[in-house]
Amino acid sequence: MTAMLEVDDLSVSFGGVHALRHVSFKAEVGAIVGLIGPNGAGKSTLLNCISGITTPSGGAIRLDGQALRRITPDALAARGVGRVFQHPDLVGELSVLDNLLIARHRSLRYGLLAEWLGLPRVAAGEREAERMVRGVAARLGLEPLLHAAASSLPYGHRKLVELGRAMVMESRLFLLDEPIAGLNESEIEKLETIVRALREQPGVAVVLVEHNMGLVKRLCDHVVVLDAGQVIARGSAGEVLSDPKVLLAYLGEETADAP
Ligand code: ADP
Ligand code: MG
Repeated sequence: MTAMLEVDDLSVSFGGVHALRHVSFKAEVGAIVGLIGPNGAGKSTLLNCISGITTPSGGAIRLDGQALRRITPDALAARGVGRVFQHPDLVGELSVLDNLLIARHRSLRYGLLAEWLGLPRVAAGEREAERMVRGVAARLGLEPLLHAAASSLPYGHRKLVELGRAMVMESRLFLLDEPIAGLNESEIEKLETIVRALREQPGVAVVLVEHNMGLVKRLCDHVVVLDAGQVIARGSAGEVLSDPKVLLAYLGEETADAP
């Protein structure tokens, strides 16, 4: 079976910094792949390459067996790749509701002419879009914030809106960069339930960058460990977290929840 996502021998350098060196991994449908490693290991760079923001200097990325080359973030979203950035990227002056509606509209298709003429199916589509968006917002606990400007939200909640955006676009591949940073315990539990539910949806795969090892253990089917741009271990969470190479890589890290 072809993996939904295949990263093959990927390298990236920024000037003299080798952010990624010959990195390979796969994400299969129905699985959550954890991507862990100390700060600066290259995790966000890897997600940036997959989402078309950073151009790799070598290697290949395949989605459903097809190479992704010079693809724009919009084209990628149309192919079902949804993303929660480490630093959220919303339309700050617009409300949470509008940010979600824009995302939903991107994934709906009625021609511009129909929209301009205000045809009934467009109006019905609008109502359906709003119903769907409100449903996702409720699952994420964002209902009370629907009319707040995205820029007024705390960091953790902006990330939840990004996850909502990927959900309303009915993404198939979710790339989540530290999705629980900035959330309190009950919000983390909610997010955990949602990520589990995403995995249960037919045809969905998740890549999760996370520092909270408890969450990694509970959620991830497979874990890839990066250090200084290289894969230093892979396996189940239990296996990699007891690997001396991994423990050594984390030594000196000041992250309180490192293993
Ligand atoms: P992580 O997400 O694992 O903490 P990053 O992918 O953000 O790590 O960074 C990996 C390395 O690449 C770091 O040394 C970082 O300073 C460098 N880096 C990341 N993005 C850029 C950039 N746009 N320009 C130059 N260096 C970068
Ligand atoms: Mg990062």
